[in-house]
Amino acid sequence: MEAKLQEYARLLVAVGCNVQRGQTLVLAAPVECAHFARLCASAAYDLGAREVVTSWGDDFLARERYLRADGAVFDEVPEWRRRFYNDYATQGAAYLAISATDPETFRGVEPDRIVRAQQAGGTALEPFYHAQMNNEMPWCIGSVPIPSWAKKVFPGVPEDEAMRRLWDAIFATVRVTGDGAAVERWREHLDTLEARRSKLNELRFKRLHYTNALGTDLTVELPEGHLWSSGRSVTPKGQAFVANMPTEEVFTAPHRLGVNGIVYAALPLVESGNVIDGFRFVVKDGRIVESRAEKGGEFLKAAYTVDEGASYFGEVALVPYDSPISNQGILYYNTLFDENARCHLAFGEAYPECLEGGVAMTREELKERGLNWSIQHVDFMIGTRDLSIVGTTRDGREIPVFVNGNFAI
Ligand code: ZN
Ligand code: ZN
Repeated sequence: MEAKLQEYARLLVAVGCNVQRGQTLVLAAPVECAHFARLCASAAYDLGAREVVTSWGDDFLARERYLRADGAVFDEVPEWRRRFYNDYATQGAAYLAISATDPETFRGVEPDRIVRAQQAGGTALEPFYHAQMNNEMPWCIGSVPIPSWAKKVFPGVPEDEAMRRLWDAIFATVRVTGDGAAVERWREHLDTLEARRSKLNELRFKRLHYTNALGTDLTVELPEGHLWSSGRSVTPKGQAFVANMPTEEVFTAPHRLGVNGIVYAALPLVESGNVIDGFRFVVKDGRIVESRAEKGGEFLKAAYTVDEGASYFGEVALVPYDSPISNQGILYYNTLFDENARCHLAFGEAYPECLEGGVAMTREELKERGLNWSIQHVDFMIGTRDLSIVGTTRDGREIPVFVNGNFAI
């Protein structure tokens, strides 16, 4: 086990963030993952990191604060917090976040408190989020189990067993076996995703049409000059990094005014510490004009009304139904994994790298070219076993992109 943990920590720091000699690493992790966070810090120092600074999170304290703190605090972001995130981001530090949380940690919290905290945080930490969305700093999100989460993924088994099974499942998704060759396996995997990306870029689709038996019937227009992306990203200084580990997707940006129809979620979504399930959106000229959910509808609505751009789309991602994470048959209740098991969309901000020359454009230029902006970015899963996607090229040819849930090109 210890060999696997060390291999995994090394992978996140050396490939995920690709920490360079003399570079600071900002490490955000839940206190329950302290052992693993320490391994990541040691791995960073092994690579010559200047300093590792940590930002600890805790589900219990975050929940207590949302339930019991003075209401005014949700409109405030203290200066020290702004400085911590914004200064390190603009100074070129690397950022590693460990995503591990009880999927229902904010059950019973007033959605309004969550919305106001997101609005305040989105504004105060704008330089940090800008650096992240524009690949100006190397960043990576990885994940390790915590008991509350493991018990939700594997209900009805003892906590030790649930933790062991979630560890095994996660190690499989990130290609860690303990043999020390994970870095090599990742190189091959990222090459495979890049081949898919190149094929899609050559086809230069004008729009994609999604249909399945759930009732999805959605047309997604892609902006002129859109680019498909996959696992490997690069900072302006040429530092390669992998923003999500695991990753199985190729993705681009939709035209913010060109999404129309109805789309059904294929999996539950964990957002703002709540589970949202059985939901669908009606979309007109890019905007979500109606939503319905069997569970968590008020949190869904809160998420896509945080600001104007949150009710428009920012990402279109393709993941085969027959792919490694999907084939595990595990519902992770964590978007980092679930989005890499299914085709997904995101409402909220688009990645500027998904447009030719996009990272050098202002927010207004991006908007003009069709890319959405928001403080929000929420991925939700829409892929099913029977999903069909037909692409229309700029010269009017219709090409099956997905047939029965899998790539047809
Ligand atoms: Zn994605
Ligand atoms: Zn996304």
